[in-house]
Amino acid sequence: MKFCPKCGSLLIPKEGKLECGCGYSETSTIKFREEIHPPKDIEVIDEATEHIGDTVIPIVCWNCGHRGVYFWMVQMRRADEPPTRFYKCRKCKKVWRSGK
Ligand SMILES: [Zn+2]
Ligand SMILES: [Zn+2]
Repeated sequence: MKFCPKCGSLLIPKEGKLECGCGYSETSTIKFREEIHPPKDIEVIDEATEHIGDTVIPIVCWNCGHRGVYFWMVQMRRADEPPTRFYKCRKCKKVWRSGK
């Protein structure tokens, strides 16, 4: 959640941006463009992790090289800490996570 620096209202996600009723807008913190480059601090998850959402990003699977993995984020701890990012290959079904 982010709040407008001008009026303090909750910013509403819209078309890749965060917008406020007062006219303020900023680029969303979720930058899918950056996700095209696979993160290096990933960790394989062995146990089955629930797949949340259907967002597919065009990065290459670390395991099989297939392009196109599911991507979702989970807020694991406090709200002011960055969420953990999860990735799941559409082909080999392996799951990774990134973030502390
Ligand atoms: Zn505002
Ligand atoms: Zn794969």
